[in-house]
Amino acid sequence: MRKQIAAANWKMNLSLDEAKTLLDQLLATAHNLTDHQEAIFAVPSIYIPLATQKLADKQNVFVAAQNCHSKSNGAYTGEISAPMFASVGVKHIVLGHSERREFFNESDAFLAEKTDAVLAAGSTPIFCCGEPFAIREAGTQNSFVEKQLINSLFHLSTDQIVKVVIAYEPIWAIGTGKTASNEQAQEIHAYIRSLFATKYGQQIADQISILYGGSVKATNAKEIFSQPDVDGGLVGGSSLIASEFVAIMNALK
Ligand code: PGA
Repeated sequence: MRKQIAAANWKMNLSLDEAKTLLDQLLATAHNLTDHQEAIFAVPSIYIPLATQKLADKQNVFVAAQNCHSKSNGAYTGEISAPMFASVGVKHIVLGHSERREFFNESDAFLAEKTDAVLAAGSTPIFCCGEPFAIREAGTQNSFVEKQLINSLFHLSTDQIVKVVIAYEPIWAIGTGKTASNEQAQEIHAYIRSLFATKYGQQIADQISILYGGSVKATNAKEIFSQPDVDGGLVGGSSLIASEFVAIMNALK
C-alpha cells in the first residue's frame, strides 16, 4: 500500500511555549501509526530542535521544514538549505506552497531547482500544486496543475519521482473553510496520478502519495481520505489544535 500521510503545516504560528504545549498534547493523545502511515510536522524552522527532540521516540513521525533554498550554501542571507536541514535530521521539506508562490514569487523553474536540491540532499520534497478559484470556475484546473507538475517535476528520473510526495491544494480551499467535495478531490487526484502514469508508468504512479490540502479538519478528514487516490492530507489551521490533528491522523487509511 502507498504511504498514507497526515502532514501538519504550522505555517508562521505559535510561540515557543505554545509549540511545546501542542507537541505535549499530541504526544499524550496520538495513537501509534501503522507501517504504511506517517505523520509529518512542518514546524517553523526555529522550533525544529524542539520538535525533533520531543518526537524522537515516535514511530513513523517526522519533522519537516516548510521551505528551503535551492543552493546548498552561500551568500543568501536569511535562507536555509536542504543539506543544512538534513544535517539536523530533517529530511522532509515542503516546497511550492501556494503562499510561497504568491507572497514570495516562487516560480515553477525555481521550484524545479529546489526539488533537485532536496533530492540531492537525500530528502523528500512535499511538492504542492493547486489552482486559484478563477481557474476552478473556468474549469481549467487540470491543465493548470499539469503545467505546474511538468514545469517543476517532469525532468526527474523514475528513481527520483518515487521519492516525491505531492500535495494537491486548491488555493480557494486553503484557510477558507471551503473544501473540495470528495468527488472534486478524487477526480483531480486521479488525474494527477494519470499524468505520472503516462510519464513514468502505472507502477511508479501507484507508489506516489498524493495528499489533499485545504480546510481538512476532524469532521471531513475521514471521507476525503477514503477516496481511492487521496493518500492523506496537508493540514494548516486544524494542525494547530491537538484534538483536531489527532482525529485527522486517526482518519488515515
Ligand atoms: P488549511 O491550510 O488546512 O488551513 O486550509 C492548508 C495548507 O495551507 O497547507
